[in-house]
Formats: sequence, C-alpha cells, structure tokens
Amino acid sequence: MPGVVIVGAQWGDEGKGKVTDLLAEDATMIVRFQGGNNAGHTIVRDGREYKFHLIPSGILHQDKTCVIGNGVVVDPRVLLGEIDDLKRAGVGVANLRISANAHLIMPYHVLLDTAGETKLGKNSIGTTRRGIGPAYADKALRLGIRVQDLLDEKILRTKIRAALEPKQQALRELGVQRRKLRREGNDEARAAAALGPDPRLDVHSMVEEHVNFGHRLEPHIADTARLCWDELDAGHRVIFEGAQATLLDLDHGTYPFVTSSNPIAGAATVGAGVGPTDISEVWGIAKAYTTRVGAGPFPTELEDEIGERMVEAGHEFGTTTGRRRRVGWLDLVGLRYAVRLNRMDALAITKLDVLRGLGPLRVAVRYRSREGAELDSFPYHQSILHSATAEYEELPGFDEDVGDARTEAELPAAARDYLAYIAEFVGVPVRLVGVGPDREQTIRIGD
Ligand code: GDP
Repeated sequence: MPGVVIVGAQWGDEGKGKVTDLLAEDATMIVRFQGGNNAGHTIVRDGREYKFHLIPSGILHQDKTCVIGNGVVVDPRVLLGEIDDLKRAGVGVANLRISANAHLIMPYHVLLDTAGETKLGKNSIGTTRRGIGPAYADKALRLGIRVQDLLDEKILRTKIRAALEPKQQALRELGVQRRKLRREGNDEARAAAALGPDPRLDVHSMVEEHVNFGHRLEPHIADTARLCWDELDAGHRVIFEGAQATLLDLDHGTYPFVTSSNPIAGAATVGAGVGPTDISEVWGIAKAYTTRVGAGPFPTELEDEIGERMVEAGHEFGTTTGRRRRVGWLDLVGLRYAVRLNRMDALAITKLDVLRGLGPLRVAVRYRSREGAELDSFPYHQSILHSATAEYEELPGFDEDVGDARTEAELPAAARDYLAYIAEFVGVPVRLVGVGPDREQTIRIGD
C-alpha cells in the first residue's frame, strides 16, 4: 500500500486540509513534512470549523497516527496551545507524534522575523512573522535547537547560548529600534516596545520555560521516521501532507517571494525520513481560480470587480494572518509546471462553486514576455516572470448553484467542460472536485 503525498499546486490555501481529511479516510498515518505554524488548515465537519496551524489536519481521526515530521519547525508554545484547544473541543491528542529531530522555533526567531519584515518595507516577502525563516536558517547554520533537546536541560542551555551568540548584535539593534519607536510615540510599535527587554530572551528563564514544554510534550516525542517505516512496511497507507504550495517552494517557486522550506512532493522524503520509492501517488490541490498572499509575481491577477466577487464568494482571507488574498483567473501555465515538478498523478480542484455567476471563465494558457515572446512554460528567470502577462482562453461560465452536486453528472455542462479543459491541458485527471466548504460538498471522479 502506498505513501500518498498531497501538495498545494498554486500559492497555497487551496483547501489541502479538507482534501487531506478526505483522502486520509483509509490511511493509518498522516505526516506533515515541512513548514511551521504558518500553514493554517481549515476543516469544516458537521458544521463545526476547526483551524490548525501546526498539527496535521488528520488529528480529527482518532484512530490514525498524526505525525509532525523532522522537516517541520515547531514552536512549542503554539503546539501546546493547539493541543489545549483541541482538548477543550473534546478532541483527544493521544495519537499525536512529534519527531525528536524537528527543529524548534525559539523566541529569538520570532523577534528576528519581525525585525527582518520591518526592514523590507513595502516590498515585503510576506512572511507570517512566526519565526519560521530564522528557525530554518539556524538549522542550516547548525545552530538549531531540536525537539529532543527539550528533554535535556544541560544540552538545551548550551545550545541556546550558542544560538544566541551570533545574534546579539541584531537583537541589540532591535532593542534600540524598539526604544526609538516608543520615544516617537509610534502606535504600532508601542505595544511591542512596552515589553521592554524581552524576558523571554533571558537564558535562564528561556531554559526553564522550555524544559517545562519538554515535560508536556514528552509523551508525543518519537523517532517518527521509524513509525512511518513500520506503517509502510506493513502495507498501510500513509499520507504525507504538504503545507504552503509548489509556487512557494524555496528552490522551485517564485523566489524570493516564497516560503523557507520545500513544500513539493520530493521534499516529503527528506521531511519525513522515507525513500522516494515509498511514495506511490502524488495528489495536487488547486483552486478553480488562483490566489496568492503577499507580494510576488501573479500573472493572472484580477484587480477588478470580478476579482472582488471572487474574494467575497471564496472568503479569501488568510486562516493564519487574516490578510486579504490576491485573486485571479486559473493559471494553467503555473499549474502544468506544478504538475510536472511534483509528478502529480491526480488533481483535486477546489472551490468550483466560487466561479458561479461570474460570466465567461478565463484560463491562462500562455504568458507573453515584455519583449513580446510567447512563453508556453513557466519562466525560470525572475525578471521575465515579473513582467510577463497572461494570455487566456475563454470558456463558458455557469450560473447554477453547484453546492449540492455530488456526482460529476450533476454539474452543469459548462462546469464539466471547465474541469475537462484543465485535465486535458495539464495532462492529469481531476479526481476530486470541491463544491463548497463542507466535507460532504465534494465530488469524486473515477473511484
Ligand atoms: P489549506 O491551507 O490549503 O488547507 O487552505 P485553507 O484551509 O487556508 O483554505 C481553504 C478554505 O477554503 C477553507 O476555509 C475551507 O473551508 C474552504 N474550502 C475548501 N474547499 C472548498 C470548496 O470546495 N468550496 C468552498 N467554497 N470553500 C472551500
């Protein structure tokens, strides 16, 4: 039985949570393999909304093991908060396992992330300021603190000291900056500045606090790669759940407007500790249109009334940040790139319902460079991509409410043709279609 990877095929927020929840039905394990608490999955089940930032969305299945893999960066404070929230909602977490090798987001990472964002000013990369980038940077610098370090106070203290050493200057500057902003009466900064010297940066209290986190997390800490092997070797289905999405991939996305990890399917092997041949199926999730949060190229972006209607109908505001998402037509050039990069076997197209009543539907089938060249494939060069414009094919739209459709045959002909056009263009079948936020509002094709 297979390892199945689920990845976002666009710039994130495609509805991976719901699709993972559905595809996990016959799996025994769900593994997150990258990213941090910048993910933000929403699952609506029986009319109740659950939001997760760090914990894999499979947690609602009590009979399955949920794994936070070694490739994830974990803010223990956030993780414990989510565990408490779930417990309060009556959802048990005995099935949660956290890789001992996963790296931690420490308080100084969060502080430095905020500082970096301020300096970038108008052209900010759109980081969620959760400390994720700095945590990954420390991992690469061999200055990271890992989950297992929470269980050994002496090692923890030594590692925190070593990690803080090269950051002293930046943290001092941050303190000066905060005080200056406070003197100037800057409202936004006042709240942060009022904290004064951040007590969390005192090594002694930081160690103490994190030892306590360790005590609470200890029952969940495990050699999670081994847990994956056991399931796969027993022939069980394991779902590897990507966060963010292909075009935000650190190596293959629209750098530097990307995330600080690799959300593509290949990264599941590294981030979970399994081999490439453990993966036998890759699913890509794409919206029936396109959205993006923060700055960066977006050739099919709509800044008109149709875009506004998409935002409204699709509730396009971030789960984690509340930021309004940028919206645009479906970009088949980007989608075909994502299909090949992840070697997808199947697509799930979500939010088809949002396209209702928009009139004719456009899909981007090529780009045109500023110099007039026709671009059939996703350009690798940043300058070309940033100035490229999309060229469209226009397809008939539909006015019918599709929210109650449960089979492909129940969809209006125009909606069916739209899906068929996508599948034909990118070369993989559409096997699942979302027609509303609820789990039941799903059409499976070809099962
Ligand atoms: P993820 O990070 O990829 O899981 O995406 P998010 O959870 O941030 O955003 C997906 C949002 O779309 C959630 O609010 C879902 O409830 C909602 N959603 C998922 N599928 C559909 C769909 O088919 N139609 C509509 N209207 N909403 C959907």
